[in-house]
Amino acid sequence: PFTMPALITPAQAADEIHDLSCRLRELAYHDELTGLLNRRAVMERAQSLLALCGRQGSPVSLLMIDIDHFKRVNDRHGHAAGDQVLCLVGETLRDNLRDSDLLGRIGGEEFLAVLPDTSEEGALILAECLRSRVSRQVVGLGGDEDTVTISLGIASISGRSGSGVPLSDSLRRADEALYRAKREGRNCTICAGTPLPQEHGQGRPGEVLLQRAGHPVL
Ligand code: GH3
Ligand code: MG
Ligand code: MG
Repeated sequence: PFTMPALITPAQAADEIHDLSCRLRELAYHDELTGLLNRRAVMERAQSLLALCGRQGSPVSLLMIDIDHFKRVNDRHGHAAGDQVLCLVGETLRDNLRDSDLLGRIGGEEFLAVLPDTSEEGALILAECLRSRVSRQVVGLGGDEDTVTISLGIASISGRSGSGVPLSDSLRRADEALYRAKREGRNCTICAGTPLPQEHGQGRPGEVLLQRAGHPVL
C-alpha cells in the first residue's frame, strides 16, 4: 500500500542540516581510528598556531612521535591488535597534553604534537613524560601482555624568531631529530636544537644540538 512520506517542518530540516554538517566536519578533520585530528587538520592548525606564536613573541615546539617497531606488533598479533595499540598510544598522548596543544595522527603510526608557549626545555620534559608513560603502559595483545615504546624528535622555535619560520622547516627538523632517535636505538627523545637566526632562508642545515634523554624524568 502507498504511504505518504512524513513531512518535516523547516525547523526540523534546519536541525538535520546542522547535524549533517557537524558530522561532515568531524569526518573531514578527524582520524576515524583514534579520534585525533587528521594530517590535514593538524597541519592547517599548526600553521596558524606558529603564526600566532610568532606575532606574540612566544616560543613554540613541535614533537614528532613514532611508535617503535610497530610492524612487529601487526606481524605478531594481527592488524586489529595494531589498531588497538594505535588508539591506546593516541589516548596516552592526548591525556598528557594541554587543551591548548594540538595533537594529530599524521601517518600510520606517527603523531605530531604542537605545543604553543613551550620552549625546547619544556618540550623535552614533556616528551620524556610521554615516552615514559607510554613505555610503562601494559597492553593486552591477543592473550599476551606486552609494552610498546615511542621515539620522539623535537623542533622548537624561540620567541625571538618572529613569524617568519615556515612550518615545513620545523617539520623537517623535527623529522630529522626523530630519525636520529631511531638510530640512537629508539625509545628516546632527540632535540634538533634551536636554529641560528641567520640560518633561515639560506637553505643550509643548522647546527644540531644532539641530546639523548633516555632516562625517565617522571
Ligand atoms: P620503526 O621503529 O623504525 O618506526 O619501525 P616500524 O616497524 O614502527 O616502522 P615501519 O614503517 O617499518 O612500519 C610501520 C607499520 O605500521 C607498517 C604498517 O603496516 C603499519 N600501519 C600503518 N597504518 C596502520 C594502521 O592504521 N593500523 C595498523 N594496525 N597498522 C598500521
Ligand atoms: Mg614506527
Ligand atoms: Mg613511521
